[in-house]
Amino acid sequence: MSRKKPRPVPVPPEPLAEVFDAHTHLASCGAADAESVRAVMDRAAAVGVRSVCTVGDGIAEAELALEAAHADDRVVAACAVHPTKAGELTDDARARLRELVADPRCVAVGETGLDTYWITHDPDGTAPLEVQEEALRWHMDLASGVGKPLMIHNREADDDLLRVLSDAPSDLTVMLHCFSSPLEVAREAVDRGYYLSFCGNVTFKRNEELRQAAALVPEDRILVETDAPYMTPEPFRGARNEPAFVGYTARLLAEVRGVDPDGFGALVSANARRLYGL
Ligand SMILES: [Zn+2]
Ligand SMILES: [Zn+2]
Repeated sequence: MSRKKPRPVPVPPEPLAEVFDAHTHLASCGAADAESVRAVMDRAAAVGVRSVCTVGDGIAEAELALEAAHADDRVVAACAVHPTKAGELTDDARARLRELVADPRCVAVGETGLDTYWITHDPDGTAPLEVQEEALRWHMDLASGVGKPLMIHNREADDDLLRVLSDAPSDLTVMLHCFSSPLEVAREAVDRGYYLSFCGNVTFKRNEELRQAAALVPEDRILVETDAPYMTPEPFRGARNEPAFVGYTARLLAEVRGVDPDGFGALVSANARRLYGL
């Protein structure tokens, strides 16, 4: 018998009056049909998570995300082809994505962006940077054309990302999901008026700089998300994540900003509704 302590079974946080999970992946949380979407959303609603934006990061996943958004009025969707899969953005895929993002339940174009981490760690399975950049620019035009915000994934690509985004049309609203970059990037993003969305890694002990970034984001530009099924916040880091756990991250963010957790939940909910046009 192992003497290692068993990992605790994750339990949801204390309820908040209201909170909006701005970026999650319901299908990857095992909720790929109407019934399981309702089950996940009921567990979330029990602790105050009234709404989520679920993200489809490929054509099939985007179709599922939209189905979830049509099946449950607590769910809205974001559709795009993920940067690591940018090689799948064929002409057919572009045509289909144009249809998907025109759907009123699709409230953002994303996640798109740049990811050099997987280029380093899985070069054969990941689109090269120039392909990712072309896809990002295409998604930028798509979002601008439909008048919906652009939801950005950025993993170890700060300089290239800021360079490409500086070419975005001025009327494009940008949201940086799972913000995990240094303080100077946070300051630049704030100067540009971007929304910054924080996920479970802001609760990890070593990420003090991320907490400092979270403290400097203006009231009307901060969001919270799970990015479930990954990035489970403390005290359940490593377990499988779902929207019900977003309150741990929201409470930590409220603490670093010195505000009341319920007030912070209401604030990020209002921000998400404004961003997504709800
Ligand atoms: Zn991402
Ligand atoms: Zn994601």
